[in-house]
Amino acid sequence: MIQIPDKVYELITRLNKAGHEAYLVGGCVRDALLGKKPHDYDITTSALPEETKKVFRNLPVIETGIKHGTVTVVIDHSPFEITTYRIDQEYLDHRHPDSVVFTKSLKEDLSRRDFTINAMAYHPQEGLIDYFNGQKDLETCTIRCVGDAKTRFCEDALRILRALRFSSRYDSPIEEKTRKAMKECAPLLVDISAERIASELNGILCGKGIRRILTEYLDIFGVPIPELLPMEGFDQHNPHHIYDVLTHTAIAVESIPPEKDLRLAALFHDIGKPSCFSMTVDGIGHFYGHAKISEDLARNVLNRLKYDNLTKDSVLTLIKYHDLHMEESEKAVRKMLRKIGPELFRKLILLNRADNLAQNPDLWERQVYYDRLEEIADKVLAEEQCFSLKDLAINGSDLIRLGYSPGPLLGTILNDLLDRVVEGELVNDPDALANYAETKYAKELL
Ligand code: ATP
Ligand code: MG
Repeated sequence: MIQIPDKVYELITRLNKAGHEAYLVGGCVRDALLGKKPHDYDITTSALPEETKKVFRNLPVIETGIKHGTVTVVIDHSPFEITTYRIDQEYLDHRHPDSVVFTKSLKEDLSRRDFTINAMAYHPQEGLIDYFNGQKDLETCTIRCVGDAKTRFCEDALRILRALRFSSRYDSPIEEKTRKAMKECAPLLVDISAERIASELNGILCGKGIRRILTEYLDIFGVPIPELLPMEGFDQHNPHHIYDVLTHTAIAVESIPPEKDLRLAALFHDIGKPSCFSMTVDGIGHFYGHAKISEDLARNVLNRLKYDNLTKDSVLTLIKYHDLHMEESEKAVRKMLRKIGPELFRKLILLNRADNLAQNPDLWERQVYYDRLEEIADKVLAEEQCFSLKDLAINGSDLIRLGYSPGPLLGTILNDLLDRVVEGELVNDPDALANYAETKYAKELL
């Protein structure tokens, strides 16, 4: 038995009363059977889009994807997608079906869906409709294609990444034929748009099975992101490390909280290591300058995958500073806060913690160092110590009042004052700051 919200029950009942079949379908059935609250409820129906519109003519109906048979019906501000049973025809570009054909058969509609766990339908009176043994696969969350796996991935290569996303989400196995076909069809991912790859990658990275997925399926990731490939099997020849670069990376990703920015930063933090490896005569491996190289490589990847600027900025800043060696002092923390701000500072500590947990356990005691840095940051923030221009006790207008002319000079002076305050050489007091400025920049006074 699945609990159905009243509004969804009403939609299905009204379609039925008008003589049409209607079922809940896909992700919501899967999630409900797993005991999870579905994030949306999709309905599949034998009614043609025009017929669905007619049934709900007293409600707002949006023609979301009328060509593909989808309309959105809004009840009390909640939108529900209702899609006509359909079969997809011929995928020439391994992505979009060339045309969709409506059908009167629920089974045909379910057979076009990607995985058995996503191909179940549910009706409040009829119960579960499960032609492809989805419920059995759901017991172990096994990812198995509906129909012949290779054909299904050739039709739409995005399904390869969807399989990785579901397998990562549930930390669950991928059925052998499905797995084999994913690897064989992976080259077809070149036809998938950057945006779709990025969005699936985010989902994959945030799943709990990410360590296994990265180490077992790197060849697939390597199609859209070949920069990742040299990490596999790259021995670090360094006592700090007991894993190759890929396993180290996979454990770092798994060890950081499942937020997109953090997981992307962990994925790419050491991507530059293989290209800057050197070994000293004692046989120890070094990676001088790897943070910068990783940052540059990650920038190329994030640009190519069309990530938004906000994500790029945080991920790249985290990678740039990931090799943290700072003093345990308020001054050092203020200096870092000045560079990256409090939010990224916290994320940087999380990245360092994860990086450390993916190293030789002999080094895990370093976590205490991160505890201390966090304590210091808490104190600096609680005391509202000054680390940014907006915290400075004087601003540009104050300098103009003191007699400096507007222009770039004001920025130079303010940044100099901020440096002195952050360094602890000046107190953040209007008079002290004005005195310092008037002495040092006396010549520039009007
Ligand atoms: P999520 O919880 O991530 O939303 P979902 O299963 O609801 O998972 P959607 O992308 O919302 O995934 O798609 C809804 C349903 O449409 C899926 O359950 C599946 O039946 C079908 N589907 C989606 N994308 C594909 C695809 N590329 N190929 C085949 N079927 C698909
Ligand atoms: Mg969904």
